[in-house]
Amino acid sequence: MVIHTYGHSRTYEMEALLKLFRPAEKFAFSTEPQPPFADEYFSAMLLPAEDGQRLSCTVKIGGETRSSEKNLPPDIPNNILDREISGLLYPMLCDLTGLRPAWGMLTGIRPVNLLRKFAERTGSIEQAKDDFRNIWHVTEEKTQLAAKILAVQQPILSAAPKGSVAVYVSIPFCPTRCKYCSFVSNSVSQMGRLVDDYYACLAKEIDLVGNIVQDYGLTVDSIYIGGGTPTAIDLYQPLDWLHRNFVNGQPLREFTIEAGRPDTITRVRRRLRKWSIMRRKR
Ligand code: SF4
Repeated sequence: MVIHTYGHSRTYEMEALLKLFRPAEKFAFSTEPQPPFADEYFSAMLLPAEDGQRLSCTVKIGGETRSSEKNLPPDIPNNILDREISGLLYPMLCDLTGLRPAWGMLTGIRPVNLLRKFAERTGSIEQAKDDFRNIWHVTEEKTQLAAKILAVQQPILSAAPKGSVAVYVSIPFCPTRCKYCSFVSNSVSQMGRLVDDYYACLAKEIDLVGNIVQDYGLTVDSIYIGGGTPTAIDLYQPLDWLHRNFVNGQPLREFTIEAGRPDTITRVRRRLRKWSIMRRKR
């Protein structure tokens, strides 16, 4: 399948949408002024129009072609353009493949965050759920699930003390790279040489953020180490830096380390237990 873009650069977002239907496929790419001569392609062209722009989308799969167009204002932000492109392409993909992804045309992570933002914007959870179903094509079951999770999250989010911040640390390394993954990450076997440089940058950044927290009199409510797979590398040093800058004397409500890959857990678990025992003794 060829992913064709012209007049814009939303290739990554289009690829993420297409992966909902073709998760294991490797795609080719084209940016020519016309859709490619290919058996299968997925095209979005943004063309000048009299009073703005014209978005023209086409999908060709299994010898069948579907097309759709829409007029757009001259300048629209990328996130709106993404939604417009997906809004045209998604129904055609469903039609031609017979598939209907449970989370509709949502890609990436944290759909509940999106539902929360809709609810905050419209002031109504019912309206937000309608948007989920009607604009994003999320199924009823998943819409209800997201709303249920939001109801659990909301009191915890609201309980965050005034002037508190959440610290997130990204560890962009994994034992190997999963094909479907959209996170920024590199396999340790291929890019392990970058770990030391990454530690050096992380140390600086943690110190800088630690100074900001102190200077502005903020408190740290939670620390989350995500990735990637944080447990794929040695976490002694980052944990020390975090402890020095953010843990001492802070009213932390959460300290999380993602350990999504079982093949990284056993050895690191022992190390982290040792680390926490050492800390308790100090
Ligand atoms: S382990 Fe997780 S973060 Fe790493 S490549 Fe796989 S899905 Fe992505």
